[in-house]
Amino acid sequence: MKQTKVITLLLLIVLSQVQTQAQTPTRTPASSQTAAPAREEKMHAFVNALLGKMTLDEKIGQLNLPGAGDITTGQAGNSDIARKIEEGKVGGLFNIKSLAKIREVQKIAVEKSRLKIPLIFGMDVIHGYETVFPIPLALSCSWDMQAIEKSARVAATEASADGICWTFSPMVDIARDPRWGRIAEGNGEDPYLGSRIAKAMVKGYQGDLNGNSDIMACVKHYALYGAAEAGRDYNTTDMSYVRMFNEYLPPYKAAVDAGAGSIMASFNDVNGIPATANKFLMTDVLRKRWGFGGFVVTDYTGINEMIAHGLGDLPTVSALALQAGIDMDMVGEGFLTTLKQSLREGKVTAARIDEACRKILEAKYKLGLFANPYKYCDEKRAATEIFTEANRTTARKIAADCFVLLKNQGNILPLKKGGTIALVGPLADNKENMTGTWSVAADFSKSISFLQGVKDVAGDGVKILYSKGSNLDEDSLFEQRAGMFGKSLDRDPRPAADIIRDALNTASQADVIVAALGESAEMTGESSSRSNIELPQVQQDLLKALLKTGKPIVLVLFTGRPLAIKWENDQVPAILNGWFGGSEAGHALADVLFGDTNPSGKLSTTWPQNVGQIPLYYNHKNTGRPLPEGAWFQKFRSNYLDVSNDPVYPFGYGLSYTHFTYGELTLSSTSLKGNQQLTATVMVTNDGTRDGKEVVQLYIHDLVGSITRPVKELKGFQKIALKAGESQKVTFTITPEDLKFYNNELKYDWESGDFEIMAGGNSRDVKPVKITWNK
Ligand code: BGC
Repeated sequence: MKQTKVITLLLLIVLSQVQTQAQTPTRTPASSQTAAPAREEKMHAFVNALLGKMTLDEKIGQLNLPGAGDITTGQAGNSDIARKIEEGKVGGLFNIKSLAKIREVQKIAVEKSRLKIPLIFGMDVIHGYETVFPIPLALSCSWDMQAIEKSARVAATEASADGICWTFSPMVDIARDPRWGRIAEGNGEDPYLGSRIAKAMVKGYQGDLNGNSDIMACVKHYALYGAAEAGRDYNTTDMSYVRMFNEYLPPYKAAVDAGAGSIMASFNDVNGIPATANKFLMTDVLRKRWGFGGFVVTDYTGINEMIAHGLGDLPTVSALALQAGIDMDMVGEGFLTTLKQSLREGKVTAARIDEACRKILEAKYKLGLFANPYKYCDEKRAATEIFTEANRTTARKIAADCFVLLKNQGNILPLKKGGTIALVGPLADNKENMTGTWSVAADFSKSISFLQGVKDVAGDGVKILYSKGSNLDEDSLFEQRAGMFGKSLDRDPRPAADIIRDALNTASQADVIVAALGESAEMTGESSSRSNIELPQVQQDLLKALLKTGKPIVLVLFTGRPLAIKWENDQVPAILNGWFGGSEAGHALADVLFGDTNPSGKLSTTWPQNVGQIPLYYNHKNTGRPLPEGAWFQKFRSNYLDVSNDPVYPFGYGLSYTHFTYGELTLSSTSLKGNQQLTATVMVTNDGTRDGKEVVQLYIHDLVGSITRPVKELKGFQKIALKAGESQKVTFTITPEDLKFYNNELKYDWESGDFEIMAGGNSRDVKPVKITWNK
């Protein structure tokens, strides 16, 4: 009894410290991260004056974000939404792909509504607009921040040429569970890499927000959406504050620090409170700790869904959301229909309504919409700025750098531009699926299929044969579910054995077989979780049959998640992971396949042996009973009876057509004090016969801490280009900043002690060098 009381007391002390810390601002809240002080003052004066003129209804109207609704199909001017805009009941609209319609509704807002407040126009421009880049998970495997920023810039340019000024991107949710379909939309499992990418994306979209090709970013989904239990979309998340702050929140914070103009609340609950009503997240952390000055929008009907979460009726959940710190209500109109009454009843405050409205008006001001509501409505731009040859070339180059060469036994790859190649598989001759999930603005008919790409790149000297080989899945209903949004795979109605027989016939005439297998585009993305992450059985059967021919075979994978392909890795000599490479996927894949581009992608997630190992991630804790490295089963150790703890491919892994050797890691000192700097240098040599690019990775292991620390954490990386035979010294500078973490009181600091420093070409193949660093 006594012991329970002591524990309870300790818990209370810790929690109160967590609360105090969380409520203590560590940065002065800035009302704008982008505006210079003078401009900011002008903005305040403008917005204050406008707020002074607004009625309560008009203020609430600004908080309303309906979808495009009947505007998409019908005439914008006659729509129900047009009437609401005129009445000042709409702050913005999203997912309208038509500059003419955007102009038309903007005209209603600025000519017919009482206060002539312009609308903001959003869209899910996630990995490109009409020129589609690889899915975000693939982009993250480029480890190339310039390329990632460039992809966002191109997307912003194209979207803004079509009237869009706000994108629901970047999605920066850390995900360690490949069952979760939305792992495709993020940057993988690592908070450091995820933070670097978050920053690059925000910069790429927003620029300085002055030009008419700069659009506002919306960081999503805040927070912990990627930690959905069992990888089931929209599911509960529950985690310690220490894990939250160290492992899941950093990319959101990085995006906020980079000046992101808006942030989207996630659907899930976090430790019992849906993010949409979570004051701790929306106000204490986001506003007070991080000083976020932009606006917070819900996800699609996020407020209404709190009724199903069990938090109350629409007026109750709308009031909870507003008071927690939500500024804009996407689709559900909970704010529009209930806030006035809630104010009368004292459930919300006028100050919170004013504050939320202020944030929306400020966003419009920062975008320059008050100065020119048609800033993004220049009809002349589209013809020369959307889906241009230059943009497609950029997309092709970037895509080729995202593919990950997983295996290349006997140097089967690159293929010679000669002889006969059999291209087999359900993904081999398809355009619609090449762009992957979330490509709402794309015209799929303009994507380059793998078959087309191979034909274009191979040239006349190569005979290319094609056979479908199998359907995506034996189950036609599953295939329907996995082929939504017009991304069909043209199902072959014949029995599987007949389709395979055709493929074997084709393969028998070829020198080499390229099997294009994997998932369809909509097998990942929203509401596309899988409990089995292997290749569908019918595709495995095809692969087995092809392997029996004894011909050289290359597996080209299409996927939006890490797959469990242990068997394939054991059996197939060469595997190239092509993700979903975007509009130019076909060309880019062929560029890599024939060696015009040497692959340089490295995985941003761990690939497990089987689904039972999930979550499997490189930066795990040691436990009190670790398994010695390379060992398998030992009784009373932290392991499984039936599978080793190893992944098939570790985080950071990826091969090249050349080979890189790492020299010994040399350190400027092994005993440091205070704010000194440590220099870590490693010589990297391209000792193969081709020029290539390598991602040199730096990891740190904090050996002793006040809390348990990961066995290694990525703390730096450099992507270098080395000619065949060339060597380069790669140097990392490490400061105490790199040793910091959130301790049990959520204080961000470093602790004296021993550390291991490691550098290498992936997270597994590194040798630690020990140092001591004291305060
Ligand atoms: C998704 C968001 C998206 C929004 C608007 C939601 O279902 O979760 O990521 O931005 O829809 O389309």
